[in-house]
Amino acid sequence: MNAIEIKNVTYRYQNNMDALKDLTLRIPHGAKVAILGPNGAGKSTLLHHLNGLKIPNEGSVSIMGNPLTKKTALSIRKHVGLVFQDPDDQVFSETVWEDVAFGPRNLAMTEEEIEEVCGAALGNVGMLEHKDRAPYHLSYGQKKRVAIAGILAMGPEIVILDEPMGFLDPAGQDDIAGLLQGWNYMGKTILLSTHDVNFAASWADMVVLLKNGELLVAGNVDLLVEEK
Ligand code: ADP
Ligand code: ADP
Repeated sequence: MNAIEIKNVTYRYQNNMDALKDLTLRIPHGAKVAILGPNGAGKSTLLHHLNGLKIPNEGSVSIMGNPLTKKTALSIRKHVGLVFQDPDDQVFSETVWEDVAFGPRNLAMTEEEIEEVCGAALGNVGMLEHKDRAPYHLSYGQKKRVAIAGILAMGPEIVILDEPMGFLDPAGQDDIAGLLQGWNYMGKTILLSTHDVNFAASWADMVVLLKNGELLVAGNVDLLVEEK
């Protein structure tokens, strides 16, 4: 069974523009997938379909064999974590700790479990020492890591990241790349959108190229690497 199956998905914004056109794609378990394409290609729109934030006008999305619909979106969200491009869309609590605890509380974890998963997630992203600070005062890169910790704390098998490297300095990018590698070793399936072909070539094992809402190509990362 694939981690994700997208079948003939079309998504139309209210202005009647098809942001995704008859898109079909299968993502195996444990894959590291980079979604590439110019601005406006449909990358964010596609990622928002993978945890039910958007529901297609036509076609279907299944997560680990379970159809994703308005009804199932809430229960599927615990298996698929989505990290937004802009951490200010995601990080809003009074303290870093409370922010990371938000998702686990929604999943009705016990206080003991919340302590454990939040501590582990903040440790994983290197933000545990900042747990009592107000997210508002953090740097962009730190906020991004808090947003990521909030998703990790819910224990998703599939992690989706919209432009995780955007606006980060090279050291920040290396930190995130290291985190992604570690989660993949733990068996998580990871999909991210990026503009950076070099990063995609070095990190991904599968690449998906979108343009104007259409899938141009999907396959092994060797597609990006010159033949020797
Ligand atoms: P990408 O992430 O690849 O830059 P998007 O998924 O954000 O692409 O956008 C795909 C297309 O849908 C673009 O043409 C964009 O302008 C359009 N679009 C995105 N969001 C909206 C929206 N809320 N309303 C109308 N059109 C939108
Ligand atoms: P991204 O490509 O990562 O979605 P953008 O800068 O294209 O980032 O879009 C920023 C925000 O504006 C998003 O929330 C998107 O949905 C919205 N947006 C993008 N294009 C349009 C559009 N043509 N009409 C309305 N909203 C749009």
